[in-house]
Amino acid sequence: MNKISEIIDELSQDELELFEREMKEGYLQKYIDRKKEFFKIKDKICPVCGNTVGEDCLVLVFGDISLRKKAHFCGADCLEYFLDNFIKTKKRKQKLKN
Ligand SMILES: [Zn+2]
Repeated sequence: MNKISEIIDELSQDELELFEREMKEGYLQKYIDRKKEFFKIKDKICPVCGNTVGEDCLVLVFGDISLRKKAHFCGADCLEYFLDNFIKTKKRKQKLKN
């Protein structure tokens, strides 16, 4: 709480009133939720290019229900590449079964 009380100490009267209003109206919770979402994904690596993904990453949930997997992609190109391969592999496996 130290850092936050320091920030509040620095605020002018107008800023403090705005902060209070945002807190009461639930905007603050939205910022907190967004930040928490970001912490959840911040160390994720794109499985296609190996880059660390950003806040605007694309998330794909796939696999059997018993073994759900989640992949984070840095952009649409990587997601497309991944899906393309995923579908091809799936089709190949189906062919082998028949
Ligand atoms: Zn990527």
